[in-house]
Amino acid sequence: MRRNRVAHAYLFTGIPGIGKMTVARSLAKALNCSTGGDADFCDACPSCVMINGGTHPDLQTIEPDGDFIKIAQVRTMQDRMLYTRFLDRYRLVLIDRADAMNLQSANCLLKSLEEPPGNTVMILITSLPYRIPATIRSRCQRVAFHPLASRQIEESLRELRGPEASDASPLSSRLAGGSLGRALRWQESGLLGQRLRLLGLIARPGPSLLNAVFDVADDMGEDRACLLELLDLLRLWIRDVMIAKEAGAAAELLNTDLAGEAMAMARTISWPRLFEQDRLVAEAQAALQGPVNPRLAMENLMLTLTAAPFGRAAEPAMMNHRAVHTH
Ligand SMILES: [Zn+2]
Repeated sequence: MRRNRVAHAYLFTGIPGIGKMTVARSLAKALNCSTGGDADFCDACPSCVMINGGTHPDLQTIEPDGDFIKIAQVRTMQDRMLYTRFLDRYRLVLIDRADAMNLQSANCLLKSLEEPPGNTVMILITSLPYRIPATIRSRCQRVAFHPLASRQIEESLRELRGPEASDASPLSSRLAGGSLGRALRWQESGLLGQRLRLLGLIARPGPSLLNAVFDVADDMGEDRACLLELLDLLRLWIRDVMIAKEAGAAAELLNTDLAGEAMAMARTISWPRLFEQDRLVAEAQAALQGPVNPRLAMENLMLTLTAAPFGRAAEPAMMNHRAVHTH
């Protein structure tokens, strides 16, 4: 903006939750702000207020309708672009999860990219850039967003959530893999607490294991997105056990609050069993993407994971209990 070289189209890439949409909105505000000056925005003028409220007439946001961005959505956007600009500044089109365009939508959008209307900026946002056709990618200026350092996530968490977040902050910033959005979501949904319950069950199965498994499955309910994230955390734990097994005391673990447990487990579990655990969780994740009952998928996973918990043989009493329960 300072050099007056704003492109017609951008492709913002990077993992979810690192601020791609936030930056896209900030750019939209800066381009149209009436008082910000010097490539900045004020957040107070009518244009900024309308963008914040989602009512700016020259800003269109497209996101998938169901699984796809449909051609009708792209056509509607193109029709609206033909109108005169209301506020005589920039027209902005933000396309969130642009990888969800099907072939027809992508071809339709291509026309706008080949002959971009004046003073229009399109921003395509994606965490899966390889799914975007090369014809589209080549017409966009690419801006790569990199994962945040855990120290940055920790600082932002403290800023956004206040001091009550500080206990879990170092842990969630490490586990979030550079995504502030993820770390925030975990803190709000209490997912890290569920993670402890789940790992506790796998690490120390007791006589009441089965009831505990069903309790956990009940509590986690039907929220697929939440379950998928929980299983991501479970795989990070398995990864830690692998690293502990390989590196011993020198291992740099992500689950620092469970370092003792990871070391103990690394001593008893065999490599094949460890790889099998990881495969079972990955399979459950794949199943959860399909038309399966989430609660049943979780129960099934927990039972297979705990049936021969990390190298130990299942106790006969437990197997009987299981047979009774499933009939
Ligand atoms: Zn403003």
